[in-house]
Amino acid sequence: MRITALAGGIGGARFLRGLLHHLGTSGQLPGDGSGDGVGDEITVIGNTADDVTLHGLRVCPDLDTVMYTLGGGIHEGQGWGRSGETFSIAEELRAYGSGPDWFTLGDRDLATHIVRTRLLGQGHTLSEVTAALCARWQPGVRLLPMSDDRVETHVVLADPEHPGEDGAPGERAVHFQEWWVRLHAAVPARRILAVGVEQARPAPGVLEAIAGADVILLPPSNPVVSIGTILGVPGIRDALGDTAAPVVGVSPIVGGAPVRGMADACLTAIGVETSAAAVAGLYADFLDGWLVDQADDDVADSASVTAAVRARPLLMTDIDAAAAIAGAALELAEELRTSRIGHHGRR
Ligand code: GDP
Ligand code: CA
Repeated sequence: MRITALAGGIGGARFLRGLLHHLGTSGQLPGDGSGDGVGDEITVIGNTADDVTLHGLRVCPDLDTVMYTLGGGIHEGQGWGRSGETFSIAEELRAYGSGPDWFTLGDRDLATHIVRTRLLGQGHTLSEVTAALCARWQPGVRLLPMSDDRVETHVVLADPEHPGEDGAPGERAVHFQEWWVRLHAAVPARRILAVGVEQARPAPGVLEAIAGADVILLPPSNPVVSIGTILGVPGIRDALGDTAAPVVGVSPIVGGAPVRGMADACLTAIGVETSAAAVAGLYADFLDGWLVDQADDDVADSASVTAAVRARPLLMTDIDAAAAIAGAALELAEELRTSRIGHHGRR
């Protein structure tokens, strides 16, 4: 089975680890049952709009979270960064007063960014660099950046101290990471911009992976700054609308709130309610199936949601729980494929 998934960081990575576990234990694989995806071909299209340059090094938080989680190197408690991490370099940087102090990079993690930055500097594309890093981690999926072109999410905040000309309310834009990590998304965003996205081209293999898939999965990643930015790369959204594969998503919103992180602040910024139904609405032009939590089973009755809705427990409390969610997503996709409901209305 060819499975293609779009993914941000933690929510995407935990879902994908569950997917590999499900495939490895459900007897669908001819392999050794280790959950390495043998027999299935999984392509992950990762968000790169969270990427940031720090200390001269290119950091790709979402790609790395997927790579470390699937490769067994993740810090389990945090859900990002390396396990067994030490912080000698961060301490030395602090002693130099060399910021930012709100984004700490561990020693082990820094090695990844050094290798990436060196390879990029030698002229390799981010796709090539990601493949090189994955050669070490063996994530069991083909991990593609959404684009080799630079796209960066910036967040526009009110800046009353610097009013514009003619006294218009002042504004300033900060990098997504500054809003998310330093300000904890507690300062309301006026707008969220994916800088460079209009000019970005899908990375090699991305459109082919959507067109040629048997199933497309949307893990419970942030609908605005993870899935939303991937969908913003010209060509990707249309490819999702055109593919013959059923597209099945998992809601990141459970009982009207994000499970972790501040997705509600992102949804508010784009004028969308924080609900499983409203997130489905963001994908309405290509979504065939939508998994919601049992707390949100009323979404099935919502006239505005045209995708087939199933209610399942959606908390990824451990790998088995994530595997059950992935299994339910594949089951729904299979149902849609055989009943051809996936072809309803848009093909
Ligand atoms: P990030 O880039 O690290 O922020 O990660 P993602 O964009 O991949 O995922 C963030 C989203 O995952 C948040 O909006 C959360 O609501 C969602 N999420 C995290 N854990 C769970 C979970 O256990 N179940 C569900 N349904 N969603 C989750
Ligand atoms: Ca992210």
